[in-house]
Amino acid sequence: MENAGNASTVETAGQIVVAGAGYAGLHVALRLTAKLRNNPAVELTLVDRHDYHQALTELPRVAGGTRAADAVRVPLSDVLAKRVRFVQTEISGFDLAGRRLLTGDGPIGWRWLVLALGSRPNDFAIPGLAQRALSLYSVSDAERVWAAVGTALTAAAAATDPEQQRRLATVVVGGGGATGVELAGELAEMLPEVASGHGLSPDRPAVRLVEAGPTILAGSSPQLIDKAAKILSDLGVQVRTNAAIAAATEEGFRLKDGELVDGGVFVWAGGVKAPELVAESGLPTGHNGRVKVDRYLRVLDHPEIYVAGDLASVVNPRSGHVLPPLAQVALEEGETVARNLDAELRGRQLEAFTFHDKGFVVSVGTRRGVADIAGITTGGRLAHLLKDTIEWEYRQSVRHLRGWDPVAR
Ligand SMILES: Cc1cc2nc3c(=O)[nH]c(=O)nc-3n(C[C@H](O)[C@H](O)[C@H](O)COP(=O)(O)OP(=O)(O)OC[C@H]3O[C@@H](n4cnc5c(N)ncnc54)[C@H](O)[C@@H]3O)c2cc1C
Repeated sequence: MENAGNASTVETAGQIVVAGAGYAGLHVALRLTAKLRNNPAVELTLVDRHDYHQALTELPRVAGGTRAADAVRVPLSDVLAKRVRFVQTEISGFDLAGRRLLTGDGPIGWRWLVLALGSRPNDFAIPGLAQRALSLYSVSDAERVWAAVGTALTAAAAATDPEQQRRLATVVVGGGGATGVELAGELAEMLPEVASGHGLSPDRPAVRLVEAGPTILAGSSPQLIDKAAKILSDLGVQVRTNAAIAAATEEGFRLKDGELVDGGVFVWAGGVKAPELVAESGLPTGHNGRVKVDRYLRVLDHPEIYVAGDLASVVNPRSGHVLPPLAQVALEEGETVARNLDAELRGRQLEAFTFHDKGFVVSVGTRRGVADIAGITTGGRLAHLLKDTIEWEYRQSVRHLRGWDPVAR
C-alpha cells in the first residue's frame, strides 16, 4: 500500500492503472492480482480518493440507522495484496495523448488504464436541489442522512406547534427507484422507535416518497411493483407518483403542479450521472455522460483504455438498451476487463462482454423485500433474506479474492 505522497514514484509507462476502487475497479485489481502472479514485470496500480472500498448497496441501511457505517467501509489494506500498489489521491483529469492520469499528487503514467470512477448524483439541474437535499452516494452521505433525521426529530420534540412538529418529523425522499424505495422503507420502519426515544409519539414521524414517473421501481415487472407498493403502504410510506419536482426551496419540494411537499429532512435519490471530470476528458460519451465502449469494454478510438461499472455505456444486445448502473453489472464488467488485460499481456484473443442477469432484489423495510429472479416474482421475508445474503456474500467474496492471491503480503 502506498499513500498519496508517493504518487510520483509510480510515474512509469508499461503498467496497468485502475482508476477507482469501487465494485468494478476493486474487482479488476483483485482478479488481476492472481492472474499476474507469474508476471512480476507488470505493475498494477489502484487509485482512489479513499483508502477504503464502499459497499454502496448497503447505504440505505446506514442512512436508516440499521447498519453501522464501519460495516460497509472495507479498508483496502485488508483486501489488497502487496502486489497491488495503492495510491490514495484525487484524480483531477486525463492527459490522453501522454497516457497519464492527472492526480492531486502528480501524474501517473499508464500502458493500460481501467476507468472505474462510478457515478455522481444527478440533480437534473432542478433549482435548489443540490443545496436543499441530502444525497446518498457514499457512506458519509448515509451518515449525514441518519444524523439529519436525528436532528429533525429532536427539533420536532421541542416544537410546541403541532403543525411545525408534523413538518419537522417528516422525511421526504425524492426518486422512487430502488435506492429511494429502500431508504423510504428502512426509515418508515425505524422512525417510530427513534421518535419514542425523542419523547415523540411513535405515529408522529412520516415518510413521503415522491416520484416523477407513473410508477415506483420503473422498468420492473408490474407484479414486483405492486408487491413493493403494498409493503410501502403497510409501512405507512406516502407514495406520490407523477409528481415531478420543479424546485427545492427552504419550504420543501415544489412540484410542477405547484403543490409543496414539506418536511424536516429531504433526500434526493432520483438518478445518477458520470463524474464531471469524465465529461471534460474528451472521451466519447453518451447518455448521462457515460463513456462509449466497444464490445471488449475498450473506449472507442482508445483501445488502451478500458471502462467498467457505472461509467461504461454498454448496450445490452438482447434489449437494445444501455445496461443500468448496478453493482452486479459492475462486477461482471470488472471480470471481463481483468480477463482482457490478461489476454493483452499474453497476446491472446480478447473476450466480448456478455451480461448474465442474475435478477433484481430490493429490500423494503427491515424485514421484507421484493425480488424478480428467473421470471419469478416474490415479495416478503424471503426476498429480504436474499438481499441480506447477497450483501454478506459480496463482502465475503472481496476478502476471499484477497486470500486467493498466492503472493504473500
Ligand atoms: C444507495 C445505493 C444503493 C444501491 N443499491 C444497489 C443494489 O441493491 N444492487 C445493485 O446492483 N446496485 C446498487 N447500487 C448501484 C451500485 O452501487 C453501483 O452500480 C456500483 O457502485 C457501481 O460500481 P462502480 O465500480 O462503477 O462505481 P463505485 O462503486 O461508485 O466506485 C467508484 C470509485 O471511484 C472512486 N472515485 C470516483 N471519482 C474519483 C476521483 N475523482 N478521484 C479518486 N477516486 C475517485 C470512488 O471513491 C469509488 O471508490 C446502489 C447505489 C447506491 C448509491
